[in-house]
Amino acid sequence: MIDGNRNSDKICLNCLACVEVCPEKLLPNYLYAMARKKAIDQLVDSCLMECSECGNCSRICTSELPLKEVFQEMKALIADLS
Ligand code: SF4
Ligand code: SF4
Repeated sequence: MIDGNRNSDKICLNCLACVEVCPEKLLPNYLYAMARKKAIDQLVDSCLMECSECGNCSRICTSELPLKEVFQEMKALIADLS
């Protein structure tokens, strides 16, 4: 399992850089917060499954959070549940 706390000293700074670069017009910062809580319903409602796993958000993240990796893990979990 990917450890979303890998950068445990790092937190989202709400800089919104990830939002600017998401080609799917998702909100990676919000999705990451919901993923950390394993909030499945909110992730589905916020279109996590439309994440193309391009990695733009991870590459630009000011806090170097493992966004794409966490999204991949949560997508797999949701797919298993459906
Ligand atoms: S990995 Fe997903 S959430 Fe991140 S920028 Fe790409 S499509 Fe958006
Ligand atoms: S780029 Fe990283 S630090 Fe900035 S809002 Fe997105 S998740 Fe938070």
